[in-house]
Amino acid sequence: MPDLTTRLIHHPYTPPAGFAAPQPGVFKASTVIFPSVAAMRSTQWKDKTGYTYGLHGTPTSYQLEERLCTLEGGLHCILAPSGLAAIAITSFALLKAGDEVLIPDNAYGPNKALAEGELKDCGIHHRFYDAMNPADLADKISAKTRLVWVEAAGSITLEFPDVIALVRLCKARGVPVALDNTWGAGLAFKPFDLTPRATAAGAEPLGVDVSVHALTKYPSGGGDVLMGSVITRDDALALRLKNTHMRLGIGVGGNDVELVLRSLPSMALRYAAHDISTRAIARWCLGRPELAQVLHPALPGSPGHAHWRALCADAASVPLAADASPGPGHAAGLLSVMFKPGYSQAQVDGFCDALGLFKLGYSWGGPVSLVVPYYLPSLRAGWPAHIAPGHIVRFSIGLENVGDLLGDLDQAFAVLA
Ligand SMILES: *Cc1c(COP(=O)(O)O)cnc(C)c1O
Repeated sequence: MPDLTTRLIHHPYTPPAGFAAPQPGVFKASTVIFPSVAAMRSTQWKDKTGYTYGLHGTPTSYQLEERLCTLEGGLHCILAPSGLAAIAITSFALLKAGDEVLIPDNAYGPNKALAEGELKDCGIHHRFYDAMNPADLADKISAKTRLVWVEAAGSITLEFPDVIALVRLCKARGVPVALDNTWGAGLAFKPFDLTPRATAAGAEPLGVDVSVHALTKYPSGGGDVLMGSVITRDDALALRLKNTHMRLGIGVGGNDVELVLRSLPSMALRYAAHDISTRAIARWCLGRPELAQVLHPALPGSPGHAHWRALCADAASVPLAADASPGPGHAAGLLSVMFKPGYSQAQVDGFCDALGLFKLGYSWGGPVSLVVPYYLPSLRAGWPAHIAPGHIVRFSIGLENVGDLLGDLDQAFAVLA
């Protein structure tokens, strides 16, 4: 009989098959064990017919990938350790020295920083375009453009671009489009099927080539996981993305995948709840004399509202489970306000410090409401024409009671006065 140490490692017991529970099991591995040398030589992971190494996927990561494909309407999914890593994989997979990438000036800041840093160091050029002006994108697409990023709504300023026009432009010029779909989350609109309902019958299907999602936000929903996904419908593009993902050694931990698998079933309900509260708070903010502008795409006066309506309210978007609809369409739980220019940055910072339920923090999509005072001139090439002058504050509305959140805002406005 083998020694005890050996028997504890090579134990003969196998649990009975057929265990079923609401949550999928969690498999974790660096090493994957093969039944034979032949299997070791022939097993494939790129088409998900098998397992070869921890970095290349486990039953747990494959399950999350497939569920995310269902969420966003894609066919292939790659998991990354953060939303930003998902952006980086996409850029490095699609771009090489001499190529050019076009990024909206209102994109998620670190996407622009990557272009100004590592991409530039690799000889990849970038230009920032005005997402609210498709003609500016048309002007900037050149023979060297190999990737265009689109983001809706825009980061921090939450203006909603004409996504359909931007994607059509790229398609007409044969340039791949990647969408940062974190705001829409696969719920507000369908990134691979952007065709407006009015023209859907018989129309050429219109969709992005790649959708990137910071799972850190709504799919996690807890403020305790960092993860990202890259999704595509295109087989050739999927292979390029998978090869880059593999060669860069990017992987995610099984426990983090488990957390997202656990949160995903409640995501549509949470998204709807965040949406209802955020619109109520946005409407309340419209009546505040301290504010020059309230930025939320579902507000009729907010920049790009008509584009939001066309994509998220009039289009055949996925119905969410909640009946207490805040109005047409779906929107994420983000809201920004412009304080009137008479208030100094110090006063606006004081307003943020005076908040109690709203915590100071950058990420979003979790139960805790968050606030950040941003300095817009450091984030944009120029002051956007559609944004009132003043100091900007962004709120991420959590799942607290709306009355309590309004009470917190009210007492902080009183401190400002
Ligand atoms: C948070 C966020 C990211 C990055 O996600 P991380 O997981 O924090 O790296 C990318 N894009 C958008 C729009 C985001 O809000």
